[in-house]
Amino acid sequence: MGIIAKGAKCNVSGCDNDGFRSLNTKKIEGAGLRVSVNSKKAALCKDHYKEWKKETRDDRSLERARFDIY
Ligand SMILES: [Zn+2]
Repeated sequence: MGIIAKGAKCNVSGCDNDGFRSLNTKKIEGAGLRVSVNSKKAALCKDHYKEWKKETRDDRSLERARFDIY
C-alpha cells in the first residue's frame, strides 16, 4: 500500500491518473516507462500498470528487438 493509500497520482511522465499500484521505480523504468520521481517506489495508474505488466511479460524478446535495431 504505502504511497497509494495517501492518494498518490500516477508517476509516469505526463500522466495524471490516480495511482493504482506502487512498484519499485527501477522495475518500472526497466519496462521502458518514464517516471518522474527520485524515490525507490513510484505509483502507477491502472492503465500504466497493465502496460508495465505487458512489457515485463515480453521482456526478453523486447530487449533483443531493441538491441537489434541500434
Ligand atoms: Zn499512468
